[in-house]
Amino acid sequence: MITKIEDTVQLHNGLEMPRLGFGVFKVEEGSEVVSAVKTALDIGYRSIDTAAIYKNEEGVGKAINESDVPRNELFITTKVWNSDQGYESTLNAFDTSLEKLGLDYVDLYLIHWPVEGKYKDTWKAMEKIYEEGRAKAIGVCNFHVHHLQDLMKDANIKPMVNQIEFHPKLIQEEVRAFCKQENILVEAWSPLMHGKLLDHPTLKEIGDKYKKSPAQVILRWDLQHDVITIPKSVTPARIKENADLFDFSLTEEEMDQIDAINENERFGPDPDNFDF
Ligand code: NDP
Repeated sequence: MITKIEDTVQLHNGLEMPRLGFGVFKVEEGSEVVSAVKTALDIGYRSIDTAAIYKNEEGVGKAINESDVPRNELFITTKVWNSDQGYESTLNAFDTSLEKLGLDYVDLYLIHWPVEGKYKDTWKAMEKIYEEGRAKAIGVCNFHVHHLQDLMKDANIKPMVNQIEFHPKLIQEEVRAFCKQENILVEAWSPLMHGKLLDHPTLKEIGDKYKKSPAQVILRWDLQHDVITIPKSVTPARIKENADLFDFSLTEEEMDQIDAINENERFGPDPDNFDF
């Protein structure tokens, strides 16, 4: 049972990762991101998901460094961008991210997209960073099963996390089944499909039963699927709403009803066909 915001899940290397985190894609560098992260920390979020390409690592760092929450209670994720992939360039990109964040380690460092011909060299750099203790865990984003299989053929360390687009319109059964078998944790990006799902009748009906919003129903569904979730908002009331998930629980039938919304519909690009 998942009953509190502090609940964590164990990665295959033993590290505990919060099941709920706070995403900051498209949150502006400067006062917007500082204020959003501080609000999230005050509410009780302990995991923050940024990336070099979001260009807000400095603001994330400022908010966490100014907060009273001890570093060892925080879980900070950042990601290496596509144009920085490759061995040396990943090592350099990691140093830049750490410096911007004002940290001496991150909790999780991720490959942002599976850049063809480069992600294996990138992974070698990630393994080095991990072995040096400068990232407590390493993983990937947007890897299909074939990408994971290919990476794992030559890897010394198996990815601990695969962060993928996941919401009721894209339930990713194949990747989730493979990751479960390999003990790789799945993390959902765009869990709310950018707000596009929030008037869905099934979600509204289930929400009415528990006096919860469709957003809360989706995020609870993530948690009960053992999928780590990182909703983004710059609106304090929504940041709070998205963390108020721990006083109700969906039945198996309701989980199935939400699964049935699936249409394999992506909000973002397919990892087999992206151009950036
Ligand atoms: P989300 O699915 O989290 O949706 C965010 C949008 O939904 C915002 O417009 C927000 O508005 C709105 N919203 C948030 N909460 C509510 C609510 N309770 N009710 C109504 N509307 C709400 O999208 P993201 O794409 O931001 O995904 C989450 C995180 O995943 C990102 O921030 C990022 O950290 C990560 N990500 C990773 C990717 C990858 O390739 N690895 C790709 C994309 C995202 P507002 O802010 O105005 O309140």
